[in-house]
Amino acid sequence: MPHVRVKGTDIEYRVLKTRLNRYIRLTVSGKDGVRVSAPWGVPERDLHAMVREKGAWILDRLEHFRQLELQQPRWTFSDGQRVLIMGEWRTLRIISWEWNAGKVALEGGEVIIRVPFRFLRDEKVLSQLFYKWIRRWAEQELRRRVGLFSGQMKLAPARITVRAQRSKWGSCNAEGNINLNMRLMLAPPEVIDYVVIHELAHLRELNHSKRFWALVEQHCPDSRTQKNWLREHTWLLEMS
Ligand SMILES: [Zn+2]
Repeated sequence: MPHVRVKGTDIEYRVLKTRLNRYIRLTVSGKDGVRVSAPWGVPERDLHAMVREKGAWILDRLEHFRQLELQQPRWTFSDGQRVLIMGEWRTLRIISWEWNAGKVALEGGEVIIRVPFRFLRDEKVLSQLFYKWIRRWAEQELRRRVGLFSGQMKLAPARITVRAQRSKWGSCNAEGNINLNMRLMLAPPEVIDYVVIHELAHLRELNHSKRFWALVEQHCPDSRTQKNWLREHTWLLEMS
């Protein structure tokens, strides 16, 4: 990876060149580190110069994400732990029952996982049950929200796919298919809506141009807040 030395610290960065990029863009995130996306043909030395120029700011952001990482709850699937559901921390209750199968439900503000006694402390089984439940819920809820905003924005996807992904919250391709991450169910409802609106807006503008953002903001005026939430919670993508 290319790197730049700033204030005695090496900043490593990744370069992404695609035809879609019209400008040079520098992003810093907890998960991906420093990324520079640029149009084809921009010389490496220009990107290097840009990273150097923004060095102090990048170090500041990296430190911010390092701090967040330290505070991050590493959730474990055991009784009394807390999990994030629709942006709210909920207590996890793990209860044994006589049935030879598992069941997850949101009851009285708590997430209850019922399993046969032998699985009470089996984190693998418990996490599988939890994510299976999230996935089923996401299939309904995310489609419902796409339907809602499709009507409002007059933009309908050819197909919606709900997936478990560890890289992104959503995407849209040239065929008009929208792909949403089931982990969005962990985010607050307004963040889910922002991602839905963002992907629907790509049906008209398959880029991140000014026109694209204008369309997003028309339907989601506080998109900046939601974007920040996602940026600060990228760790959710990696939770297992
Ligand atoms: Zn986008």
